[in-house]
Amino acid sequence: MNLINVFFKNNLIMDQRIENVQMNILKCFIAQMDSAMKIAGIVADHGETKILDGDNVVAGLVYRLMNPMSDEEMYSSLNKANEIMNNDTESDYDSEEEEEFLEEGNKYDDELKDKSWRKIKTNNCNCDVCKRVRECLQGYHSYETYEPLTTKFKDAIKSTCETHKIII
Ligand SMILES: [Zn+2]
Repeated sequence: MNLINVFFKNNLIMDQRIENVQMNILKCFIAQMDSAMKIAGIVADHGETKILDGDNVVAGLVYRLMNPMSDEEMYSSLNKANEIMNNDTESDYDSEEEEEFLEEGNKYDDELKDKSWRKIKTNNCNCDVCKRVRECLQGYHSYETYEPLTTKFKDAIKSTCETHKIII
């Protein structure tokens, strides 16, 4: 399962009007998304269920929004972004898997229909990442951002919350 690929294909690749400048912003955005998914994976691993869910994804996105990436992180995530944008055929990810994932996503949506909105779940881990994630979630609403890239990122957080009916 590769959330960032699905997100990218669903939301961005359809837009034929993307120009070069936007392309660079987009690349950084994807790099940040990739990194956010890694954080989400850590938060999931350090939790009780070890299963990556919407709460973990939102936690990862919020963490990445509020903590600038180091040069090294940016470099490795940009490589990943380039791979995705060049539609690397070597990728371990095929369209059948993607369909399965999307189908699962639809099933999940049906289950969510009857559920009510709830506060985001956090884990109790005390490692630096998980601690910082909880701090960020607490400060999220007072975090103002007007720069295009971060605004885009905030939109991604909002839509993930809406999909999973999560309140930060
Ligand atoms: Zn942890």
